[in-house]
Amino acid sequence: MTKREYKHIETKLIHSGEPAPRILGAVSMPIFQSAMFETLGEKNYNNVRYIRLNNTPNSQALHEKLAALEGAEDALVTASGMAAISTTLLAFLSKGDHFLAQDCLYGGTHDFVTRDLEEFGISYDFINGNDPASWEKKVRPNTKAIYVETMTNPLLQVADHKSVVEFAKSNDLVSIIDNTFASPINFRPVELGFDLSLHSGTKYLNGHSDIVAGAVIGSSELVEKVKHRLNHLGGSLDPHACFLLHRGVKTLALRMRQHNESALKIARFLEQNPAVERVNYPGLESHPQHARARELFDGFSGMMSFELVGGQEAANRFLKSVTIPIAAPSLGGVESLVTIPATTSHVGMSREDRLRLGISDGLIRFSVGIESTEDLIDDLAQAMEGPSNAPRRELMQDSRLH
Ligand code: PLP
Repeated sequence: MTKREYKHIETKLIHSGEPAPRILGAVSMPIFQSAMFETLGEKNYNNVRYIRLNNTPNSQALHEKLAALEGAEDALVTASGMAAISTTLLAFLSKGDHFLAQDCLYGGTHDFVTRDLEEFGISYDFINGNDPASWEKKVRPNTKAIYVETMTNPLLQVADHKSVVEFAKSNDLVSIIDNTFASPINFRPVELGFDLSLHSGTKYLNGHSDIVAGAVIGSSELVEKVKHRLNHLGGSLDPHACFLLHRGVKTLALRMRQHNESALKIARFLEQNPAVERVNYPGLESHPQHARARELFDGFSGMMSFELVGGQEAANRFLKSVTIPIAAPSLGGVESLVTIPATTSHVGMSREDRLRLGISDGLIRFSVGIESTEDLIDDLAQAMEGPSNAPRRELMQDSRLH
């Protein structure tokens, strides 16, 4: 039976990649909890049907669905976002190669680049994503790739992605972007010209904070290359986690709509609150790359970071005082989460490097969940009062007026 093409992402989320015909009529993709499948005379090792070789029914259905979401030829699911990132970089970079990476990266990626890849003999230069004129002089004859994030973690900077794509094409580099923070609802990098889009499926794609997963999306040729590397490195996603990711992703459009709307209202509330020093959210007119974000994205996502008057001490007090957001690492789930990146996601980075990039000790990262926006704003308002909260009611009223 030929697969149908769907026009809108909401329909692709539900129907793309689903088995046709349905397996014994099952409306929901069954879990194929089998490590291997009977041989059909496969000639190539990579085609032998075995979970680690990423070709069993649960992973294949997801590959098709995720590729459709970002308008790409193919996709690959992995055991974590870091498995997607590390395996992709190791698929295109070998000993003696060099690549360019955006200077503000998710802490795990930053550590992998600066520690592990260095040890493997792969060198790098950091680039300022907002200054394309400075990239050319960093290119060497052995430069093979350029790596950026859609919105940086935790500062929510938006690099000049159009220039990244053009620069990669004119210098024959593989362009790779971590699209975790935007999700395919807000941004589809392959449509802009990126070679590969990566995700931590742990976050928005799954959305329910109950699995760790990753994804690589792009052309069949490049995804196949990553898949062969993954087949050896072994970071494949098991069928049960595939099932949960498959189930979770179906509601992505609905969830992202609420994340986008709620985060914008909350960012506006925070920006006008006298207890707040600075808010980083690309949807705010005050964000330095707001115009670019508007042009590239269909929504600004649920991620933001902010600093309170009173720095680290005020941030610690705030984390102890909020009652709805949970102080826990990670992001992109249905529940709101708060963290202090200096002590969680970016703890591996030296303090000097963090401060140079603008990640202060008191910076709070907020992953806005899909709870009621009003409940969240009320809770943030009381938490900014701190534990003493004497004029609490009055301040809450005040804050909501702004
Ligand atoms: N990319 C980004 C932007 C992240 O925030 C994270 C994790 O927080 C990762 C990748 C790594 O994902 P995982 O924890 O699924 O390995």
